[in-house]
Amino acid sequence: MIKPSSIKIMIVLIIGVMIPVISYTVFQFLQQDQNEHLIKTIYERQLNSILFSVNQDSWNQMLSWVSELQPLIRRAGPVPDANRTRRVRRFIAEHPPLHAVFLHGPSGCRFVYGNAVPSARDSASAQADSVRLSALAGSRTAEIRQMVQNARAGYMRPLIVPWQRAHENRKTLLVFSGDGDETLFGIVLNDIRFIDEIVARKFGEMNEGNFVFAVKEKGRDVFWYLPDSDEARPFEKRESLWVLPDLELLVKMTGTTLDELSGKRTRHNLIILLLVNGVLIAGVVNIWRAISKEIRLAQMKTDFVANVSHELRTPLALIRMHAETLELGRVQSKQKMMQYYRTILRESERLGGLIDNILDFSRLEYRNRDYPMESGDLEKLVREVMELHRLRRNGGSAPVRFETQPGMPPVRMNRESVRIALLNLLDNAVKFGGGGKSVRIGLKRDKNDAVLSVKDSGIGVPESEQKKIFEKFYRSANGLSQNRSGSGLGLAIVSHIMQLHSGRVTIRSKPGRGSTFSLHFPLGNSGGTTDV
Ligand code: ADP
Repeated sequence: MIKPSSIKIMIVLIIGVMIPVISYTVFQFLQQDQNEHLIKTIYERQLNSILFSVNQDSWNQMLSWVSELQPLIRRAGPVPDANRTRRVRRFIAEHPPLHAVFLHGPSGCRFVYGNAVPSARDSASAQADSVRLSALAGSRTAEIRQMVQNARAGYMRPLIVPWQRAHENRKTLLVFSGDGDETLFGIVLNDIRFIDEIVARKFGEMNEGNFVFAVKEKGRDVFWYLPDSDEARPFEKRESLWVLPDLELLVKMTGTTLDELSGKRTRHNLIILLLVNGVLIAGVVNIWRAISKEIRLAQMKTDFVANVSHELRTPLALIRMHAETLELGRVQSKQKMMQYYRTILRESERLGGLIDNILDFSRLEYRNRDYPMESGDLEKLVREVMELHRLRRNGGSAPVRFETQPGMPPVRMNRESVRIALLNLLDNAVKFGGGGKSVRIGLKRDKNDAVLSVKDSGIGVPESEQKKIFEKFYRSANGLSQNRSGSGLGLAIVSHIMQLHSGRVTIRSKPGRGSTFSLHFPLGNSGGTTDV
């Protein structure tokens, strides 16, 4: 039966722990779509910031070339400055993504290429390029003016112009504000090499096996950079390349898509949440059980104290009363006197037994008792206990019979505690045995066990209580058994003792038809014949 205090604890646990956690779980389930969307947005932002970082790195690279070139192209003396040309040429040669550097002023336009001796094509280009550059400067004056103004305000942003010619690879002109009489200067980028060496290097740094990058022309399926092992899935994010604006950077995740990833993440979170719920519910149930058990135990202890004090008081009162009567010399007949002495003896023995039980129990409870095991003869032990029991009962009450199988093997046991166990069973059999009906002790071998049983024909134990009677302090609610003296410790002691023997105690019983309690001792190695 569940006690009201247990119900209170359960209510507190449900309201305090389970309802909040379960509500949170349900809330998370309902929010699943929103969570998925949120996770997807977070991943999208991550991809965007990766592309941003590639873009910024390329941009900074371009600016760093410009700032390194500026002191090199500043004129030291009157034109032409051969040293200057040599320095610039070396710089271009050392940086393959740079194709050429140009200077443009009112007096004309000059291109410097990487090669020491310009190729025939470069020489021809220089001529044509100067013309084109002058034309460009003439046609885009407003943009150039804006750029120069920005540069003076400290904001360096080049005018970016495609510079391709039919027979050449693609190139791009980055036009900056110049100083002195060369109003403009700039660099000609080799687009392909810029992608291969600057952008791809940054991809390599960012990759870490998690992302797939590409560079392609805007609006056309022409890829400038694409890893060999590309899977067919579409790219998740794209961003215009700042330095070469008609190209775009693309990125996706290796082996998965944003939808897959966010779905998986949400599912994982939910599974973890469910597991946490499971653990929590198991924890709450365990706590509840442990607390209920403690409450039951505390209740039993209170009952026990009341019980024991009553049990101790009854024999004590009898002893005292009889002793006082004897002392006052009120008992005249020798026969009556003997009867008084016997009562005193019986009651003091009963008192002793009860105290023994309580002490045995507390020793067993704290396991600090030494249990030396030795090989022993159960039959002999039974006969000793029967004798002891007879003396304790003063020869009266129910007759006890003993049947044994011949040739029983010795058993490993602690004689003292088996004696206590058997005495307890015997006491119970007599106590609950239906007044004077015989009690039978049996000893036999059953497979690998030696089985010692005590059978009575008394009130029996209902099935629902057959487990509980082995719990400490438990006494059957049955009115008949409540009328008998006892502490509710006897069978708990028996069960404990059998555990210490690696054995067990079992009961077969029907209310009104009697009970058989059996002690099973494993025979193991000391069991005479060795069963394999
Ligand atoms: P106690 O005998 O001191 O009450 P036990 O632990 O020995 O404590 O027994 C617990 C309960 O089990 C008893 O109160 C009784 O209800 C029941 N019981 C034990 N032995 C028997 C038996 N032989 N026949 C019927 N009921 C029994």
